[in-house]
Amino acid sequence: MNEAVPLRPSAPGALLVHHERGQREVFCGLAGIVWLHRKIQDAFFLVVGSRTCAHLLQSAAGVMIFAEPRFATAILEERDLAGIADINDELDGVVSRLLERRPDIKLLFLVGSCPSEVIKIDLVRAAYRLNRAHAPRARVVSYSGSGIETTFTEGEDACLAALAPDLPAEPATAAPSLLVVGALADVVEDQFAATFREIGIDARFLPARRADAMPAVGPNTKFILAQPFLAETARALELRGARRISAAYPLGCEGTTLWLKAAADAFDVPAARFDAAVAPGRARAEKSLARYKAQLSGKTIFFFPDSQLEIPLARFLARELDMQPIDVSTPYLHQQLLAEELALLPTETRLNEGSDVDRQLDRCRAARPDLTVCGLGLANPLESEGLATKWAIELLFTPIQGYDQAGDLAELFTRPLTRRSRLEV
Ligand code: SF4
Repeated sequence: MNEAVPLRPSAPGALLVHHERGQREVFCGLAGIVWLHRKIQDAFFLVVGSRTCAHLLQSAAGVMIFAEPRFATAILEERDLAGIADINDELDGVVSRLLERRPDIKLLFLVGSCPSEVIKIDLVRAAYRLNRAHAPRARVVSYSGSGIETTFTEGEDACLAALAPDLPAEPATAAPSLLVVGALADVVEDQFAATFREIGIDARFLPARRADAMPAVGPNTKFILAQPFLAETARALELRGARRISAAYPLGCEGTTLWLKAAADAFDVPAARFDAAVAPGRARAEKSLARYKAQLSGKTIFFFPDSQLEIPLARFLARELDMQPIDVSTPYLHQQLLAEELALLPTETRLNEGSDVDRQLDRCRAARPDLTVCGLGLANPLESEGLATKWAIELLFTPIQGYDQAGDLAELFTRPLTRRSRLEV
């Protein structure tokens, strides 16, 4: 199926969005554990899944060799799948032994997978039961990282959405507060906290670094998403009475300024104070981007649907580095969450929601872009056909948000081009 509808019907040169459905080539939501376990330092992620799930986690996050691991897989064996064993009893035993052995774990996520969904293990009930057994020593929460009809950044969305109902309640009389939502590298979080202080706003962050420091939320909370793929989390926070600040995303100098400005406007910060607070960061970002512009200007780029970061990245590359995003696919297009981004995307960009990997490969081969952003499974075949590629998942493992990372973000796109030009010499 492939159809196109105008996104801005009344605008001249309206951006069309094509809808595609077909085979997909993406990681599942378990991949989110790789960055989430680093962020929440006293949490543990217990995947209830198969050996395949365990292998995915081990190969994606092999970096944990020297640390006490903060994730594991409770492997469903054949007798579990055949319904011979009582899975609930086994799971209770695994969790009890784990918490006994590891007093450092304060927040335990039971993470669902394809096998646990197929055999219908009710992890919501299991989390409720285990929570009653182990609170207040540890809290148990469940979410699904299954690969059935999901993509890899949805794992973070599901995780944060699962936390939202149990966040502490902000008193009704509290002054308006700002909540930044989305897992950011600690260094980026510290930079944003400092910039917000300069602007005059005391920002809090979800997720917090520790289970007992999760932010309070209520009708006086205004939240701003740091990642565009957090639709369920936004809905869950709105159910708690919080209101979303609509904004572009903090990628690149322009995106960071627009994002900070949206928050500042929501708190009626005077323009002069805002400008003074962001001026040094802006200047640093502009300077660092100038280094990469000459190399990237005029280059064409093709995005396969993967991380849901595709649209903000295409906006950044087009507007700040003069690249030409010729084909931008995203697994899901949350039009409300991306309204500010879509308004900035060049209208000649082909925009697709959904995945039909064969068609997308055909278009990519025909266009022969200078750079292709795709999953690991597509990168090797495309490289062997002479196309330079960038792994989409790297953009989640690397700190890329904010003024001080703008140059690093641009550099991520120059590296494959530099490597290819060296190979061609
Ligand atoms: S959750 Fe599903 S897609 Fe992900 S590793 Fe396990 S079996 Fe594979």
